[in-house]
Amino acid sequence: MTDTDTAEARRQIPAFVRADLHLMHIDGKRVPALSGETLPHTDPATGDDLARIPRGAAPDVDAAVRAARRAFTDPAWAGLSGDARGRVLHQIADVIEAHADELAAIDSVTMGAPRRLTGEMLAEASEIFRYYAGWPTKLFGTTVPLGEDRLGYTRREPLGVVGIIWGWNGPMGQLPGKLAPALAAGNAVVLKPAETASLSTLRLAELLAETDLPAGVVNVVTGLGSEAGEALVAHPDVAKIAFTGSTATGKHVQKVATDSLTRVTLELGGKSPALVFADADLARAAFGVAAGFCGNAGQACVATSRVLVEESVRDEFVALLTSAMAEVFAPGDPFAPGTVVGALSTRAQLERVSGYVDSARAEGARILTGGERHGDRGYFYSPTLIDQVTPGMRVVREEIFGPVGVLTTFTDVDDAVAQANDTDYGLAASVWTSDLATAHRVSARIEAGTVWVNTWGEMSTGQLPFGGYKQSGLGREGGLEVLDAYTQSKSVRIAL
Ligand code: NAD
Repeated sequence: MTDTDTAEARRQIPAFVRADLHLMHIDGKRVPALSGETLPHTDPATGDDLARIPRGAAPDVDAAVRAARRAFTDPAWAGLSGDARGRVLHQIADVIEAHADELAAIDSVTMGAPRRLTGEMLAEASEIFRYYAGWPTKLFGTTVPLGEDRLGYTRREPLGVVGIIWGWNGPMGQLPGKLAPALAAGNAVVLKPAETASLSTLRLAELLAETDLPAGVVNVVTGLGSEAGEALVAHPDVAKIAFTGSTATGKHVQKVATDSLTRVTLELGGKSPALVFADADLARAAFGVAAGFCGNAGQACVATSRVLVEESVRDEFVALLTSAMAEVFAPGDPFAPGTVVGALSTRAQLERVSGYVDSARAEGARILTGGERHGDRGYFYSPTLIDQVTPGMRVVREEIFGPVGVLTTFTDVDDAVAQANDTDYGLAASVWTSDLATAHRVSARIEAGTVWVNTWGEMSTGQLPFGGYKQSGLGREGGLEVLDAYTQSKSVRIAL
């Protein structure tokens, strides 16, 4: 890929990104922050400034929550039949599908992820809205036998205003799993996207005006987590917070939400293991494991950043893994057609990842491959594999959120499972084996919300629940469980 090819590929960056000043969406209107203050957006592949977004804070959040509260009870939304609400969700899927290239390109330029990856996220996004479009007609209550002179039944009702706060590492990847069920259940929402990757959400909000969604049902406030985010969590009229982010912030969010007993679901960080057994298809496992910790430049909550390989195949597997890392997962411009791994999302991320690798070096670990910044423009980091680690090292225990894997070996299933579970986190794991019995036994013993066998990272459209054990989260997204998270049950008892 020459500089000219890259320049040509970067012509895909949508004009929307270059607006002088982006605006928030409150009650169907596009508005600046009441303070008039703004925050910058930067292109991680070049380090260049891209645009400015409003720095919303508590007064803006209050206006958005009031708009959502009004819209929640307005017959234009509250009075819709399940069929009609389902049709609105299909319309949202339609506009996402029609503008998928644009939304994916916006995410690529703001978060540094390859177009191929953001394209996959957008394809999944519209499917998730279609999946949930089927739910408004199926939010059943039950009738309960209370004797001849009484009628008892339950109703499944929406919660009210739902605040949605999520990360920068896949804005259009993470939002649909929260927004679609919230709307399917009949709630109104206030969205607070990550401050470094808000543009796709602002564009989506514009596109929602093309659907029959009434004004005020979906509002967007941009700004810092400590200002706009915290004000949303603390707002007394918010019934529920759906949060994706780091474990540290998630714990803080739960504390703030406690005061008003606001419900929270938390999708948090991970330090997920990949377990490679000697009987696995090692070439396939090497590709899957490399994708597991290098994909999205390692900025994936489910990154399989701890690589556990059976001792007898260690050398063979490491050779396959390092060659996959070099050949397939070398960093490149997010817009270049062959790029599988793009940039880290900010300079702070680059410094954080470098700091972790330096700490491993200082503690006596060996860098098998990578271990340095890639190029001198933008925030790229070479895929890195670290060997000779000990269980207490920071690179083994803490989430790095960069393309860095740590390698250890195991002797048998018990040893593999013990190492896999030796972590405060429990988001995901991948198991690589050709033995069905090993696959099932190990999957049952791993303390994680998702176990992939002979694959990694597949999310499908929300049919399977997703969420964390231990400090990786609280509650589930997807599957039937998610509808309980966005509704509440009311009992009606009638004297006949
Ligand atoms: P972060 O916790 O810094 O920020 C996440 C969101 O929370 C942002 O929108 C931010 O503005 C907001 N926020 C920050 N402080 C806040 C506060 N005091 N009150 C309310 N909101 C606040 O996380 P990040 O660095 O953007 O994202 C990376 C983390 O997210 C990683 O730990 C990753 O594992 C995790 N993650 C988890 C999942 C999952 O589904 N489990 C998915 C993606 C990312």
